Amino acid sequence: MEFRDLKTQYQTYKSEIDHAIQNVLTNANFIGGNEVKELEQQLSEYVGVKHCITCANGTEAMTLVLMAWGVKEGDAIFLPDFTFFSTGEVVSFNGATPIFVDVDRNTFNLDVVKLEEAVKQTIEEGKLTPKVIIPVDLFGLPANYPEIQKVADKYNLLVLEDGAQGFGGVIEGKRACSFGNASTTSFFPAKPLGCYGDGGAIFTNDDKLAELLNSLKVHGKGNNKYDNVRIGVNSRLDTIQAAILKVKLEAFIKHEVDDVNRVARLYDEKLKGVVETPFIPEGYASSFAQYTIKLNNNEERNNLQAKLKEENIPSMIYYVMPMHEQEAFSDLKSNHKNFQITKELSQTVLSLPMHPYLTEQEIDQVCSVIMEYFN
Ligand SMILES: *Cc1c(COP(=O)(O)O)cnc(C)c1O
Repeated sequence: MEFRDLKTQYQTYKSEIDHAIQNVLTNANFIGGNEVKELEQQLSEYVGVKHCITCANGTEAMTLVLMAWGVKEGDAIFLPDFTFFSTGEVVSFNGATPIFVDVDRNTFNLDVVKLEEAVKQTIEEGKLTPKVIIPVDLFGLPANYPEIQKVADKYNLLVLEDGAQGFGGVIEGKRACSFGNASTTSFFPAKPLGCYGDGGAIFTNDDKLAELLNSLKVHGKGNNKYDNVRIGVNSRLDTIQAAILKVKLEAFIKHEVDDVNRVARLYDEKLKGVVETPFIPEGYASSFAQYTIKLNNNEERNNLQAKLKEENIPSMIYYVMPMHEQEAFSDLKSNHKNFQITKELSQTVLSLPMHPYLTEQEIDQVCSVIMEYFN
């Protein structure tokens, strides 16, 4: 059994994907070109925003937005303590200070009450200037943008949606990667929409920001890449990856999002009353980057994972360590804050095999090992 079955996905779309790659090789147009332009248009249409700017990966996508916003030393950026390292890394990389905020136990996403407390505390301390909130759509579920936006408006902060895992999620008919002032996603192979290497994209309705990002990602270009009007980076999506993504986006829209939700419902039915299954709030939909259950304690989680492994069932722990405990952030002295939920989750969560091609038989197999463990 695969944790995320990219082999079956490839076999299902082999002829289209092979043809798309061959086409790029035949035309020998490896950077930019129509494939990238068309993909950007299709992505922005699907998400429902004006601009899509593709780039090298999801981390660079966030870095580019923070660069464009002029984020610098002395700025405070608020983000969840329970996320992939990258969300905090880009803040420090741009010279600003990450302020970690605990998450909601049910949704795994930013706790909005604690977010406002952290903003207030930062203002009271008077050392840093609150600038940006980076909510994360963890495991495919969009963060609570309606409430986060209220905090952002009240304190005049920008919102950058880290939709690396969220692509395909929905709140009240509005798609993930359309929230906040800008949003980013990742096309890392195992993400909800993945390519065959690294890739990323930025989404925004802000014309000025889009223009600036298109310059920053190509050496701060002006009229062309040999006319350089600012310091930028080199962060482009390969044409081959764009060609692959066009095929995969079609499959994603056509059935893959529905299929991961079908898998989630089957897991839910079989595991209800046995373990704590993912919580999806009313009006929200997840793209299930992960299907993450909660166990009662650390020992139970670790023993269950060992038991699954014995039965050749892969599982993962996202995330073993809260952000504030990472060595790279050890000079931040944020340990005095209340990270109770993140600490608990890092000890008790377990992500089960999840992808659109998981069969009912495989789901049964996973669930029977879990049920056996509890009997
Ligand atoms: C994967 C991921 C990223 C980074 O994406 P890359 O394309 O690997 O750079 C950022 N944030 C979150 C929450 C992620 O899961």
